[in-house]
Amino acid sequence: MRIGVLGGGQLGRMLALAGMPLGHTFTFLEPAPESTRDLGRVIAASAEDAAALDALADAVDVVTYEFENVPVAAARALAARVPVHPPPEALAQAQDRVVEKRFLRALGVPTPDFAVVDDRVGLAAAAERLGLPLILKTRRFGYDGKGQVVVRTADDLDGAWAAIAGRPAIAEAFVAFTRELSVLAVRGHDGGVACWPLVENRHVAGVLRLSLAPAPDLTPALQALAEGHARRVLDALGYVGVLALELFQVGDALLANEMAPRVHNSGHWTIEGAATSQFENHVRAVTGAPLGATTMHGVAAMVNLIGAWPDPAALLAVPRAHLHLYGKAPRPGRKVGHVTLRAGTAAALAEPLARVRALADAAAC
Ligand code: AMP
Repeated sequence: MRIGVLGGGQLGRMLALAGMPLGHTFTFLEPAPESTRDLGRVIAASAEDAAALDALADAVDVVTYEFENVPVAAARALAARVPVHPPPEALAQAQDRVVEKRFLRALGVPTPDFAVVDDRVGLAAAAERLGLPLILKTRRFGYDGKGQVVVRTADDLDGAWAAIAGRPAIAEAFVAFTRELSVLAVRGHDGGVACWPLVENRHVAGVLRLSLAPAPDLTPALQALAEGHARRVLDALGYVGVLALELFQVGDALLANEMAPRVHNSGHWTIEGAATSQFENHVRAVTGAPLGATTMHGVAAMVNLIGAWPDPAALLAVPRAHLHLYGKAPRPGRKVGHVTLRAGTAAALAEPLARVRALADAAAC
């Protein structure tokens, strides 16, 4: 099939790398293509451009997206002409943190306590109700820890309000989580759902640095709890494709932080670590093909390369290391690649993982 992708970053690149062996071709709508330049046709325009959307609809059989800030109106306009998966409604629910949390709670998926903050008075009221510390986030367009600030004492309130520049916001109770997890799930055309094992994620300054799959000490009960949450979201939306649900583990409980209606950084390990990768299963889902198995053998770890990358030869000299560079120019804070390692046991992974992390940390900026 001819697959159209809104966005042309590394997620689009890995979708194409998974979809091309299945016989599909790709057209990306991306104003500044880097990662997807050589992987198909590029319409170098933004999703705000009506003529470009028309051109995309003319050129493809199905449309998907690889970033969640696609204008909902654009996704809906496309959906009137060509199938769009996941459904535009998933974007509508995920783009605003307040809408998202209300949606999740209505489905019985617990989230951190929160309050809507429209002005400085509202922030004071939120601090009163939720207590401190809290975390103040813009409702829209925040990612990788951007557009958010931690309020530790009452003295921080003015600074926090200034930091988010008075934009519509959400205050969230600061969760003293045991660890951060995510569940990657895929739903096919027939409504069948499959999940990969839960992943433990470690962030630095709000940016994902390391994913461990399966999450160490994962119990069947925790896996079932997370899968239940993901399934409710997928079924409620009549979803087709891959969805990621980011979770805070607090003891035996799981609180949903946010959902991403797309393939996700914490699922990159599935390329080498699972029977079918998140990218291949997303492509299978949106093209109406049967889903592939999500089982994994052994353990995997994924290390993000941030800002710049080490000498590829040094990384490839590490046994078990699989390098993925995204074709992006180095720039501080940017995700420019990742490395996945896979082994039969966590013990066998420890030494090569430590080597890759040291190389990645030394190059990061
Ligand atoms: P987000 O952009 O919402 O994914 O947040 C980025 C990171 O900030 C998360 O991965 C957590 O490490 C941290 N964080 C976000 N929300 C909270 C919260 N309510 N309590 C504690 N930490 C949080």
